[in-house]
Amino acid sequence: MALMITDECINCDVCLPECPNEAISQGDEIYIIDPNKCTECVGHFDTPQCVEVCPVDCIPKNPSYPETPEQLQEKFLRLTVEK
Ligand code: SF4
Ligand code: SF4
Repeated sequence: MALMITDECINCDVCLPECPNEAISQGDEIYIIDPNKCTECVGHFDTPQCVEVCPVDCIPKNPSYPETPEQLQEKFLRLTVEK
C-alpha cells in the first residue's frame, strides 16, 4: 500500500527530503504523497522513512491503494528503470 498524509500534517517539511522515491511534495494545504511513486520504501529501506521522521504521526497506509509486498517491489523496479 502506498502511504498517505492526513490533515494533521503541520507542514514541517521534515519528510520531503527523506523520501528515496521523491514521492512527497508540498500540496495546497498539506504535504502529499504520490501513490504511484510510494513503495513504502521497499527496495530502499526496511521501514518507511517518512513515518520515522514525522513528528505528528500523520502518515498511515492509503486504503485506496492496496498492494502486496511483491507489487511494491515491482513498483520499485519500475521506478528504478524510469530514472
Ligand atoms: S514510505 Fe518511503 S517511499 Fe513512501 S512516501 Fe514515505 S519515504 Fe517516500
Ligand atoms: S513530516 Fe509529517 S507533519 Fe511534517 S510535512 Fe511531513 S507529513 Fe507533514
